[in-house]
Amino acid sequence: MSLAVIATAHDFRRACQEARRDGELALVPTMGYLHEGHQSLIRAAAQRAPTVAVTIFVNPAQFGPGEDLSRYPRDVDGDLRKCEEAGAAFVFVPRGPEEIYPTGFQTYVEPGPLAGPLCGEKRPGHFRGVCTVVAKLFALSRADCAFFGEKDYQQLAVIRRMNADLNLGVEVIGRPIVRESDGLALSSRNAYLSREKRARATALWKALKAVRDSFKAGEVRPDQLEELARQKLAEDEARIDYAEIRDPLELRRPQKADPTSRLFLAAFLGKTRLIDNGAVGEQG
Ligand code: AMP
Repeated sequence: MSLAVIATAHDFRRACQEARRDGELALVPTMGYLHEGHQSLIRAAAQRAPTVAVTIFVNPAQFGPGEDLSRYPRDVDGDLRKCEEAGAAFVFVPRGPEEIYPTGFQTYVEPGPLAGPLCGEKRPGHFRGVCTVVAKLFALSRADCAFFGEKDYQQLAVIRRMNADLNLGVEVIGRPIVRESDGLALSSRNAYLSREKRARATALWKALKAVRDSFKAGEVRPDQLEELARQKLAEDEARIDYAEIRDPLELRRPQKADPTSRLFLAAFLGKTRLIDNGAVGEQG
C-alpha cells in the first residue's frame, strides 16, 4: 500500500507541510467506518488538489453523555483501503484522543447562532466539539481546501462560518449527499440498523420526497410541510427528533418556503439516530 498512515499530530503537521510544497493540499475530515459518501469527498478532493489528506478520528468532544461514542463503528483496515482507492495520499489516524486533547487542553471554539437550532438544540455541545476539532485539523494541516458532505448540512454551515469568522483561510467545499438506491443517505450509523429497522429507515427519504411533492403542488406554509414530514416519519414508526423547514444560509424558519428552503430531519429507528435534509424545490 502506498498510502502513508500517520499516528501523531506532529507527524501530520510535517507531512502536510511537505505536501504543500508540491501544490495544493485538500483535507477530508472523517470519523471513519468509511462508505461511498466519504469516498465521494475524497474523489472530489483528488480532482481538485494533487495531495489529499484524510483524517479518521472519533472525536469525543462532539459526543454528549449517553450518545454512541463507545460503540461508534470502527474498521481502520477497511478505511485505509477505501482511502487509497479513492485517491488519498495519507491518512491521519490519531493513536488516541490524547493526541488531539493532551493533558492540560482547555481551549474550545464556541460557535454562534447557526449552531443553535436542529442538532445544536438536540445535542448540546456537539458543534462546539466539531468546531474545535476542525479548527485544530485546519491549523495542523494548513490545507488549501477542505471537503464536507451536505449530509451534515448544519455542520457545513457552522464550519463555513467558523472558517470566515476566525480567518482560517481554508476553502470549505460542500458536496451532495450520497444515497442508497432506495434513498437512504449513507451513514456510518446505518451499520447499527437491524434488517427490520433498515427497511423502515427509508422513512426520512419518503418524508423528504413527500414534502418536495407538496411544495411542487403549491404548499409553501412551513408548518404544513413539517406536519406532512412528521406524518410520513410516523407511518414507519420512526421517532421524530425534529422535522423543520429552514432557510439554507442562516438556518432560520422562513415565513414561506421557497425552492431553496430545506427540510431538516432527525429521527430514531430504535436507538439509532439518523439525519437527512434537502432543498424542498429539488426533485429526485
Ligand atoms: P463522518 O465520518 O460521519 O463525520 O463524516 C465525515 C464527512 O463525510 C462529513 O463531511 C459528512 O458530511 C460526510 N458524509 C457522511 N455521509 C455522507 C453521505 N451520505 N454523502 C455525502 N457526504 C457524507
